Amino acid sequence: MTFEDLKLQDSLLRAVKAEGYLTPTPIQAEAIPHVLAGRDVLGCAQTGTGKTAAFALPILQRLGDPPPHVRPVRCLVLTPTRELASQICEAFATYGRNTGLRQTVIFGGVGQDSQVSALRKGIDVLVATPGRLLDLMSQRMVSFHALEVLVLDEADRMLDMGFIHDVKRIIAALPCKRQTLFFSATMPPDIVALSRSILTNPVRVEVTPAATTAETVDQRVYLVDRASKRALLVHVLGDESLSRALVFTRTKSGANRVTRHLQEAGVEADVIHGNKSQNARERALESFNRGEIRVLVATDIAARGIDVEGISHVINFDLPNIPESYVHRIGRTGRAGAAGIALSFCDGEERAFLRDIERTIRRSVPVVEDHPYHSRSSGPSRSEAPRQPEPHRTHPRRGGHSRTSGPPAHSGPRSAPMPSASAPPSRDRYVPKWF
Ligand code: AMP
Repeated sequence: MTFEDLKLQDSLLRAVKAEGYLTPTPIQAEAIPHVLAGRDVLGCAQTGTGKTAAFALPILQRLGDPPPHVRPVRCLVLTPTRELASQICEAFATYGRNTGLRQTVIFGGVGQDSQVSALRKGIDVLVATPGRLLDLMSQRMVSFHALEVLVLDEADRMLDMGFIHDVKRIIAALPCKRQTLFFSATMPPDIVALSRSILTNPVRVEVTPAATTAETVDQRVYLVDRASKRALLVHVLGDESLSRALVFTRTKSGANRVTRHLQEAGVEADVIHGNKSQNARERALESFNRGEIRVLVATDIAARGIDVEGISHVINFDLPNIPESYVHRIGRTGRAGAAGIALSFCDGEERAFLRDIERTIRRSVPVVEDHPYHSRSSGPSRSEAPRQPEPHRTHPRRGGHSRTSGPPAHSGPRSAPMPSASAPPSRDRYVPKWF
């Protein structure tokens, strides 16, 4: 399958080629023909699958040539975070660079003047976060009378972040006759209900089920006491193959503490989270992007929109209590088919989270024992002991359970060497246990 096979127009094919894309990703191959045909789409896809191009390319084609005089908004993309909004807007600019179509981004936390003047000049594609958009709509600064396409991106995240009422109010003000594309990494009942209320006879496109971890990501867990996590992080970062690491913490204050500790230990690190100003976040992202800092510490929501190429490692300093967040986090490395490594630090209190994650991703995450902070008390407890006692293993187990046998049973410490970025993970280590 090539981009030419998808019947994209020449101006878009040239842009895609200039980006170095050789073949469409699965979601692009599946979704592009439907969007081009004008169908509503319900897309279940996580970040890193290429879903932005899956909607941006066919939308640019459907919008056609820019109108000669007035430029009313014809496509609206709603997305939960400013970073994601900026990146989607950039993607439209990149893919549409030969089309003459104009796009702009609006989000809160910054002055509205430049956003309003961009809207006044006339734009074809508007990418927005819900709060600021509602604000501008109530000031009558933006009109959607000519809207043709609505995209809801990361709908589940909008729900998580409490934007769902804003989103519903915005949608209520849009023309009913339009094409709607709805993307979400997970499909909890509220999201299914919302999608049903706004989509007409949608095609369902599902590439990587939310419950599967990107195949190319090599995952490892370190069992460690909470008090030793920062020292372990510095120890792990002593390995230079961790060339660009994204470190996740659960809280903003935790992110600050970890960053300070790294800086004091001489590791170039910066932090992004919701309490940082837009400028500070952009600066940190830029330096991370340019390779001036090796480590970026982030909370889940702040990291949601990060699209930095070549993240060699994702480190879960804290394990998330929602397995889907784990899937999202590790999706930041190993993007679009590249190899990546995810390391998780698990203390005694996080064992239940690890079990939930393993149940969700349907594989057990090998334990790295070969480090000075290994904690046996952070390992599986007696009550979680193997269902069938097995000898100590030096390799992760495979197979052996039927699909109905439930979550992976830990068999004592599953030890694994520290993965190296230079040695791409071999996929057969990770035959899911339930299949
Ligand atoms: P997304 O899931 O839209 O955030 O895209 C993830 C990354 O994949 C971005 O950095 C894109 O530039 C890249 N990408 C998108 N489509 C392709 C493709 N067909 N081939 C290679 N890289 C791609």
